[in-house]
Amino acid sequence: MSKVAPYHTDSLEYPPAHRNVYHDHDNCPAGKKIKQAHRKAGSAGRPRCDDCKDLG
Ligand SMILES: [Zn+2]
Repeated sequence: MSKVAPYHTDSLEYPPAHRNVYHDHDNCPAGKKIKQAHRKAGSAGRPRCDDCKDLG
């Protein structure tokens, strides 16, 4: 449970609420559902995930 480098996914496997944001916590509930193979580095100019905001 720690802060990590920003990551996101482009995979249509995930709902838009998970896909249209970036994450920066490895214990984010939505972020954790992104499989390693579907993770991309960076924020892609997306807003930060609300769950990640709550995590700090
Ligand atoms: Zn998140």
